[in-house]
Amino acid sequence: MPPLAQHLQDLRPQLVQQAVYALTRGEAVRPMLEVEVLRFFERLIDAVESGSPDWLQGLMRDWVAARPLSEGRERQTFIPILHTLRSATWEVLSTALPADDALRAILTLEGFFAGTSLHLSSLESEARLMETESKLNQGQARVERLEKSKSDFIAVAAHELRTPLTLIQGYAALLGDDVPADVAPHVQVLLAGLANATQRLHEIVEDMMDVSLIDNDMLDLHYELTDLRWLLMQAFTEAQQHLEGRQLTLNFEVAETLETHADATRLYQVFQNLLSNAIKFTPDGGAIVVRSRDLPGFVEITVADTGIGIAPENQERIFQRFVPVGDVTHHSTGKTKFKGGGMGLGLPIARGIAEGHGGALWVESPGYDEAACPGSIFHIVLPKRAQPPPDKTPKLFELFAGDDWATRLPKAR
Ligand code: ADP
Repeated sequence: MPPLAQHLQDLRPQLVQQAVYALTRGEAVRPMLEVEVLRFFERLIDAVESGSPDWLQGLMRDWVAARPLSEGRERQTFIPILHTLRSATWEVLSTALPADDALRAILTLEGFFAGTSLHLSSLESEARLMETESKLNQGQARVERLEKSKSDFIAVAAHELRTPLTLIQGYAALLGDDVPADVAPHVQVLLAGLANATQRLHEIVEDMMDVSLIDNDMLDLHYELTDLRWLLMQAFTEAQQHLEGRQLTLNFEVAETLETHADATRLYQVFQNLLSNAIKFTPDGGAIVVRSRDLPGFVEITVADTGIGIAPENQERIFQRFVPVGDVTHHSTGKTKFKGGGMGLGLPIARGIAEGHGGALWVESPGYDEAACPGSIFHIVLPKRAQPPPDKTPKLFELFAGDDWATRLPKAR
């Protein structure tokens, strides 16, 4: 046995005692700790005897593996413990051995301690990385479960609401038909209120149905040759009629010919939503412009307003379901009222429809500012189709996955 290993063997009881004392600072000794410290010094002797640090490295692996991360707590490092064991060793060796021997021993052991320390920190980093990865995976799975139950809830709630709502609408209509012409005026007002409220509720339930169809990739598009200019003009005229006293200028700058195969009803829904939002979020005195652009293989339609704009951090959030942006106390059901809120389903549905067509929908805005009104431009791009797509529309822009393909387009006017 090399002299150093022999020294360590002889001094083993003192080494263990000194190390345990240093680790516990004189407090009651935990038997497990003493066993572990003894094991450490046995491995150190084995390592010195064989000249191989593997003995200590194996022990470090056991240490790291034996301390799994407890929920919500950071993994603790064993590095300070290793340092304490090293200092205890130096102390025992320098008091028990002649100065020369102690120095030689310390120099040799330093190599073992340094190597072990390095190995330990790499093991710990690896363990931490694995824990972070598994926490991320768990988080991801939780988010997916949550999204799924949100989507299931919307589907079930919409289905369940639909039937009684249809009955209420039917009874309200019957009631309206049955009232005599000379009924008291306030009854007419009540009936009109009932009809309006049920209609609004019907629209909400329809939105919920649409969102659940889009969520489940079940949006059924009925393609036909569609005159987009005509469709836009209809939505535009309807918006003009519903300005309800708002002082806004609406301009229409759409190309004479703008045709493609598309689902006209669904696209009308998109245009209605974009126009109604532009009206809602533009203060009186502002302007809204609908434009079109012919691009190679695509048509682009933009709805620009001089409204309050959208903060950069919200420019993607507004396309998520039920994500409120701004002050929820503004939640009124007005479709044109300035800053009138809603359920936050309009844009997610609109994007779902655009993407269902193989197109895209996004917004550009310098930011949110109710005083300066920087405005927003909503872009919708649709593929030009000479005929309906063969089967389910491929997501055209998946071709450019990972590429900010919108930047390929020429800049909007
Ligand atoms: P909602 O029915 O609640 O208006 P949308 O999905 O249509 O739902 O819009 C979501 C949110 O996006 C709005 O509440 C608003 O904060 C913001 N937004 C939409 N269009 C505009 C716009 N033209 N200008 C400013 N903000 C807008």
